[in-house]
Amino acid sequence: MPQLIELGRILAPPQPETVHVPEMEKGVGCDFSRYLLVPDTSLHERIGAAVERLGTDVVILGHHYQRDEVIKFARFTGDSLKLSQQAAAADAKYIVFCGVHFMAESADVLRQAHQVVILPDLNAGCSMADMADIGQVETCWAELESVGRLNVVPITYMNSTAAIKAFTGEHGGSIVTSSNAARVMSWAFTRGERVLFLPDEHLGRNTAYRMGIPLDEMVVWNPYQELGGNTEEAIRRAKVILWKGYCSVHQRFLPEHVDRVRAEHPGMQVIVHPECRFEVAQKADAIGSTEGIIATVTKSPEDTAWAIGTEIHLVNRLAKKLSRHAIISLDPHVCVCSTMFRITPQHLLWVLENLLEGNVVNPIRVPEDQRQWARVALDRMMQLV
Ligand code: SF4
Repeated sequence: MPQLIELGRILAPPQPETVHVPEMEKGVGCDFSRYLLVPDTSLHERIGAAVERLGTDVVILGHHYQRDEVIKFARFTGDSLKLSQQAAAADAKYIVFCGVHFMAESADVLRQAHQVVILPDLNAGCSMADMADIGQVETCWAELESVGRLNVVPITYMNSTAAIKAFTGEHGGSIVTSSNAARVMSWAFTRGERVLFLPDEHLGRNTAYRMGIPLDEMVVWNPYQELGGNTEEAIRRAKVILWKGYCSVHQRFLPEHVDRVRAEHPGMQVIVHPECRFEVAQKADAIGSTEGIIATVTKSPEDTAWAIGTEIHLVNRLAKKLSRHAIISLDPHVCVCSTMFRITPQHLLWVLENLLEGNVVNPIRVPEDQRQWARVALDRMMQLV
């Protein structure tokens, strides 16, 4: 694959990092428990004071799904790629990412050499990213190779670990976001005959189908079964191999939710995130990434009614901001990203006050080899958009 080799040369990996993290900065001896006792009334004031004292040394990032009490302190809000890019450009020494683990890893891949990325709670993971373990993906790759010359290009969603991003970079693939998935998948088909799409089955299927690939040319790879639960013949027939992973928030939306909205709110538009199931995406009026949903709903006429299929904090904020629109969640029950919800104002205060004392707690460090290959994969994507 000469073009890939050439592309790999053009996209020279970044130089090794130079920031030194002393022993104290690994969280040892920095007691979080006393922050659990800080009364809510003083949290806002103390966080504000810490942000002011740290000044341009710190940049706080707030993902769209973050809770209100935290996101209000963010200098930038947005999706994970946009936030990582803004943080790298901001020049602040400390990047406090109020999101989940893979987002902080992405920020670490894109950061400048002098910057340190901090995740306020290391327990803030992502159920989807955790569904594709690097060992499982390597086994999958080896099993696909054993089937014969399949010419597979691996592509992974931003919502994956740095190890998986690095795997795609090292194997001639790329990364996708929910807004550029079709463009990157089209690019992948100019490089190979098949695509291995990681780790979100639904985003992969929704994207491929909208590109005109029929469902019977897609197979699902279950990492807990031999050959992913497929026959060799089915794999040879497939154009897209979908990793069996999903977002626990977006998979909650069901076709009957759309039916209920149609029955109870005639004229209401339904817009859903492409991480939703195929059947839901098919019934919706529109599909959009988080940024796409915000743009579509914001630009719609003021009296438009929307049922939105994405995380509840984003839906509630849109409903509050666009008070002349009628906005509800597609799911009548709360659809919260419970892992992102782990980041509390107490965690944010703990991180900031430790920075004031010269301690960096919860730094996120992607191993250098992974960082370089993940950067190659990210750069490939960014050249396409
Ligand atoms: S909303 Fe879903 S994909 Fe996004 S961080 Fe939460 S669990 Fe992960």
